[in-house]
Amino acid sequence: MATGCFLTHLTILFIAALSPLFHFISSVELNDHQASLRELPPAVALRTTPGDRLQVPQGAPFKIALFADLHFGEAAWTGWGPRQDESSVKVMSTILDKEHPDFVVYLGDVITANNIPIKNASLYWDQAVSPTRARNIPWASVFGNHDDAPFEWPMKWFSPAGIPQVCCPASNSSFSGGEDCSFKGTPRLELMKNELAHNALSYSRSGPHNLWPSISNYVLQLSSSTDPESAVAFMYFLDSGGGSYPEVISSTQVEWFDRKSQEINPDSRVPEIIFWHIPSQAYKKVAPRFYVRRNCVGSLFMENVAPQEAEMGIMKLLEKRPSVKAVFVGHNHGLDWCCPYKKLWLCFARHTGYGGYGNWPRGTRILEITQQPFSIKSWIRMEDGHSHSEVLLSS
Ligand SMILES: [Zn+2]
Repeated sequence: MATGCFLTHLTILFIAALSPLFHFISSVELNDHQASLRELPPAVALRTTPGDRLQVPQGAPFKIALFADLHFGEAAWTGWGPRQDESSVKVMSTILDKEHPDFVVYLGDVITANNIPIKNASLYWDQAVSPTRARNIPWASVFGNHDDAPFEWPMKWFSPAGIPQVCCPASNSSFSGGEDCSFKGTPRLELMKNELAHNALSYSRSGPHNLWPSISNYVLQLSSSTDPESAVAFMYFLDSGGGSYPEVISSTQVEWFDRKSQEINPDSRVPEIIFWHIPSQAYKKVAPRFYVRRNCVGSLFMENVAPQEAEMGIMKLLEKRPSVKAVFVGHNHGLDWCCPYKKLWLCFARHTGYGGYGNWPRGTRILEITQQPFSIKSWIRMEDGHSHSEVLLSS
């Protein structure tokens, strides 16, 4: 058995028997950053007003920042892990202060749950949304493949003699309970519940129950600056899976999309834009090959598209709706392009976080929706302040 075992608010101890000769204690002293993880802000009452509508501001376009692949909580037991999160906060803060968006979309892989050895991964999720919340900007989120991935034991925690000892918190700690030692991560539904319970600015939804455990499936209306009843665009959010279940958009989600879009936009009159995390297989078809970029616009063409496991009909449905203007995904940190596909655009966001693989400079895809005449423009704003890859996605 390990030499000692305790967990307080300020110290998380993971004790692994490294060898028969000595016991290795991996101790994480919480620094300022981590200390701020101690508590979530107080829960606020859920909105009772229509929380699925946003409005174009008077006399200005509606601007959205896409924060993709932040990967908070990576290697939380090391020194560099928490420093990465601080850098990610800095990227988001810099870009929010430069662009002043009206809305933020957290495009999945907000956290790296497979690295988070505490029960409540929402503590890290909360760090990721904090720069947006601090500026009073509303946001919505979708899940990526890392957000509820099961915890993976670091190899160096293992002893040649067997599995590492799990250090359960003392029963009088606020993290008490046998479950807290299960290291099973925080399920999507729980993450979403926590986001909503603590943030009046969140427009995220847990989606229809019949789609669970696929959670982040919902639609938001962007209303005209003069008439909240009149839709300028619909923003669809879909859970492309990964982590606790397969990386797909299922046929049940496709049915839901079909039904919902028929209901709220039957004649496809209102433009639609779509957000999910893992690129569909159609992204592979349009991906530039052999340096031939055709009509693609972007600056990072550094890797192959890592698509969903299967295509179950979502692209067919989107293709046949003239109102669908563009799809936005994250997932591939080395890609930031937009390519035309049939009558719509398939776009990657830009790796925003310091967590996750790849050392390409961090940035954020910005969308700007103009109401009259309608247009969607996009560009990428970098952490160092410069912008590039401007593209007109609809006009
Ligand atoms: Zn990622």
